[in-house]
Amino acid sequence: MKTYILILILGGAIPPPGDNWGAPVPLVAEAAGTWNHEGRDYWPTQFAACNGKRQSPININNQDVKLETDVNDLNFPRYSEDWPGVIVNTGHALQFNPDTTPSGAGDVPRVNKGMLEKDDGTSYNYDFLQAHFHWGSHSGQGSEHRIDDVEYPLEMHLVHTLLSFDGDTDEAVDPENCQKNGAYCGLAVVGILFHVGSENNTVLDPFVEAALEIGAEATYEDQAAVNVSTSIVLKDFIDLVDMDNNGPAYYYYKGSLTTPGCNEVVNWIVMENTIAISEYQMEAFRTLKYADGAPMVDNYRHPQPVNNRVVKRVLRDLLQDPTAPA
Ligand SMILES: [Zn+2]
Repeated sequence: MKTYILILILGGAIPPPGDNWGAPVPLVAEAAGTWNHEGRDYWPTQFAACNGKRQSPININNQDVKLETDVNDLNFPRYSEDWPGVIVNTGHALQFNPDTTPSGAGDVPRVNKGMLEKDDGTSYNYDFLQAHFHWGSHSGQGSEHRIDDVEYPLEMHLVHTLLSFDGDTDEAVDPENCQKNGAYCGLAVVGILFHVGSENNTVLDPFVEAALEIGAEATYEDQAAVNVSTSIVLKDFIDLVDMDNNGPAYYYYKGSLTTPGCNEVVNWIVMENTIAISEYQMEAFRTLKYADGAPMVDNYRHPQPVNNRVVKRVLRDLLQDPTAPA
């Protein structure tokens, strides 16, 4: 009921349940009208949904999280394959668009299980749509999510869209049941935070090389015209935050897109461990330009109120040993 009231207030800015709820494209399409990160304080007046009660990003306060140790590991089917695509300057971020399109048919990378499972062990499947980054003008800032008020220089978002339920059956997604599960039916975004290290991190090479190639163009118009063909093994990033190969520890909460229209349709999975990036590699991102010609830096949104949401910290309970003496 609360959801319906919110939709009425927002004048349909969020798709109503049962009407296009699971459709990926409208949810991630850019909001009508122009916006930029410099004007982020005005988004709530420009775009009603940006004024909602379940906005992202947030500061994750470890003192307030609910610990979950009885959850199956997240699963990343087909993440280990090398996926071709292009890296572009979207005008708001550096983004990898794979050649594949989310299909729900089990032929593209996806994330499922973990907190995306239902109580009966069946899982919703979120197919990979694109990956992009947010970063700072200097390495003391740049991430969207903060952990215990710490800001990181770079944050990667792996965006997935719900298209199927239970990989084996490829059953059509039932928006009503999806909502009964308490899950948002739109997107699952995996957020990965980076910290500055002294060495270049080769996992980032495709993105750094693309950023330098695009950034070599003097104007935004020329940068926007460059499509850098590449291929990415998404699993490389997951492996770097999965220290013990027991499934990565992560924070889970329900939130929104961090850019207009700020739709509150995102299952957020923010990895607890961070990945190293060198200052040289950070500088490559800072060579990009916004549409107005200014350096593309600080393309992040500030933390939004958590309000009454529960943020879960999901760990595999490594201390659990059924044979241990009581
Ligand atoms: Zn993002």
